[in-house]
Amino acid sequence: MKLINILEETVCDTKSKECMYSECNICETTSPTYNFTKAKKYDNVTWIEWITKDVEYEKNDETKKTKKVVTESKTEKLEILINLFEKELTKFKEHYFNIWHQYNVYRNLKSSLQHNEVMIHCDFSENYTCKMHRQIQSAHFGTQNQISLHTSVIYVKSSKPRAYCTLSDSTDHSPAAIWAHLRPILIDIKKKVPQINTVHVFSDGPATQYKQKKNFYLYKLYLEDLNFEKGTWNFSESYHGKSAADGIGGVIKRLLDAKVSHGMDVSDTSTAYSLLKENTTVNLFCVKESDIIEIKSKNQTAFESLVPVPKTMKIHQIQVETENHSNEINYRVLSCFCNGSSMRGFCDCFNIKRHCLLKSRPRKRTRLTSDSDDCLPLPFKRTAHTTNMSAAISKSENKTPPVSSKNIPTVPIDIFGAVDCDSDSSDIFTYYWYY
Ligand SMILES: [Zn+2]
Ligand SMILES: [Zn+2]
Repeated sequence: MKLINILEETVCDTKSKECMYSECNICETTSPTYNFTKAKKYDNVTWIEWITKDVEYEKNDETKKTKKVVTESKTEKLEILINLFEKELTKFKEHYFNIWHQYNVYRNLKSSLQHNEVMIHCDFSENYTCKMHRQIQSAHFGTQNQISLHTSVIYVKSSKPRAYCTLSDSTDHSPAAIWAHLRPILIDIKKKVPQINTVHVFSDGPATQYKQKKNFYLYKLYLEDLNFEKGTWNFSESYHGKSAADGIGGVIKRLLDAKVSHGMDVSDTSTAYSLLKENTTVNLFCVKESDIIEIKSKNQTAFESLVPVPKTMKIHQIQVETENHSNEINYRVLSCFCNGSSMRGFCDCFNIKRHCLLKSRPRKRTRLTSDSDDCLPLPFKRTAHTTNMSAAISKSENKTPPVSSKNIPTVPIDIFGAVDCDSDSSDIFTYYWYY
């Protein structure tokens, strides 16, 4: 019997979230039917199980520990095996539904995009190992440089999908790197289709750096910086997001290998770029290592104050709106684009929740002037290339904001996350931001 048949047997509808999440009153407790007598339940049975084990290994005369997935033979009563199976089945039902649902919303959105929307499907391809023609001939490989390839497919209404590949000598794939790779693409989209104000990103889930607080923070920051109004980021169920974006990586690598076999050298990103640019319709951009370092250092203080979204691993969609300049995002367990209006992707289905990414951490009573009492606002309305703005912070013992004057110390915008509300004084102060 196939697993899908067992699912069909134990739930009312495999396309219903309530049924598949074991939240349906009718089928929640339905078990599969087993083909044996009750008495058999107490017989011993043997089965093979995958388990994660701590294993020790030697490296450079040191004993190190790692985790390994191995098979193990177990012998227990059949009843115990049934319990185990049903527990796994509950998890599998959710997993199966998530794969189907996320793929379905992806497909539906792609076929019904509106004039103001762009859909970006992105992924890091496996790094390309640089090759020299001479090395290939002599089969001598020394230490070789690697090139990061971040690939994206862009969908907009009434136009063909566009393929992008951004290349970098940095093998960093962290959120700062993701944004060094995505930024030139968003700028290009805005230039080519200026009416786009809503971005829907689709990417792989937990196995990558995409699904985490730093990426969520930078997403909001860059959408605002590049004058987009709102965006959703949608995650495929883990390990089920392979896509056209992977295909681009393959095309690029094959093109580079062909150049090497024709006598050329691919030693770094700039040689790769110049060899590729005349030979592919994929849009290419080079990402400098310094771009990544700059994003990291600019946001380092904020990164340290970020609060993770509860149960991040379980979520499949976040929503950001740049209008309110706060650090709040919405998140939910599944993506939804049920509404055909401009609010599409921003409906409140699937028990949507709000989360403040940058919380103040007052240990004493402190009030902040922000939309909510404990969520620091983004420090300014970002417009492109406003890097030398500064903000003022002041504390006041009364409830009226102090007037900005030359006496008020100004601090660079990017350190706003470092504001320590627990100052050395035991007095109750109110802190104000203004620009
Ligand atoms: Zn049901
Ligand atoms: Zn909805």
